[in-house]
Amino acid sequence: MRGHLLEVKGLKTYFFTRRGVVKAVDGVSFTVDRGETLGLVGESGCGKSTTALSIMKLVPPPGRIVEGSIIFDGVDLVPLSEQEMQKIRWKEISIVFQGAMGALNPVLTIGRQITEAIMAHENVTKAEAWRRAEELVEMVGIDPSRLKDYPHEFSGGMKQRAMIAMALACNPKLVIADEPVTALDVIVQAQVLKLLRSLKEKLDLSLIFITHDLSVISDIADRIAVMYAGKLVEWADTIEIFNRPRHPYTKALIKAFPDLWAPKGILVSIPGAPPGLIDPPPGCRFHPRCGQAMERCRREEPPLVEVGKGHYVACWLEE
Ligand code: SF4
Repeated sequence: MRGHLLEVKGLKTYFFTRRGVVKAVDGVSFTVDRGETLGLVGESGCGKSTTALSIMKLVPPPGRIVEGSIIFDGVDLVPLSEQEMQKIRWKEISIVFQGAMGALNPVLTIGRQITEAIMAHENVTKAEAWRRAEELVEMVGIDPSRLKDYPHEFSGGMKQRAMIAMALACNPKLVIADEPVTALDVIVQAQVLKLLRSLKEKLDLSLIFITHDLSVISDIADRIAVMYAGKLVEWADTIEIFNRPRHPYTKALIKAFPDLWAPKGILVSIPGAPPGLIDPPPGCRFHPRCGQAMERCRREEPPLVEVGKGHYVACWLEE
């Protein structure tokens, strides 16, 4: 690793709805080093995607970043204007959105969509953009002759590859992949994961890989950050997370998902559901579902503390 490319500090992103303030991301801090893949994991609604949208400065209203900083390559993105962000978004940081396969325009060829993405951000001719599109699709394992195809002529895996090519169109330093393999079958999932890993090496990218399924990132992530109800509850090296998980929620997540490669084992679902984020439980937000909850957990919120080298946990059991 060669120093931080991204440093998120005390990020709070809230949605001001009629029903109340939804604290989707509530004081989250983590870093992504140059060339690192960070896996951001948690159940649906825990704030992973809102964290990604915050980094892109694409939080839709009624949401907004209310506190914290997002330092990318030495620059805090939070105070930047939309005009300033346009120089960074897609060029420096890009995103493969959740459900990206539906994001392709069905009436335009894949080639046209990729060239338009290139031309929107770079001062190049149509012919230059087309050549770049050919290079990009080749890099993601699609024959350049298929650029003339329409999205319906592509399989699910190929559409996802095309979306990845589009995210790479302007040579970003950081790519955020939000549930990029969720809708794919296991074989295609493995192929797309392999592709992301090789692209990361080849292009020296940093990657934030967002997923609800821990087993998907065991092979690709250098470090894993676990989110629960808008908070970061554990953050450590991937091997450490799998071999020595410390937070009861991380332990439960590991038991809840099968290893992609392992024979079928017993899966234990996590009892209960994540809390609503308008009025989350006091103290540790996981306490209503935690088998080890103590009186203190219901009253006081545990801080994220370093319990081993580079291993951070927010749990009173670690005191
Ligand atoms: S702080 Fe308490 S409730 Fe929260 S995870 Fe730790 S033991 Fe469980």
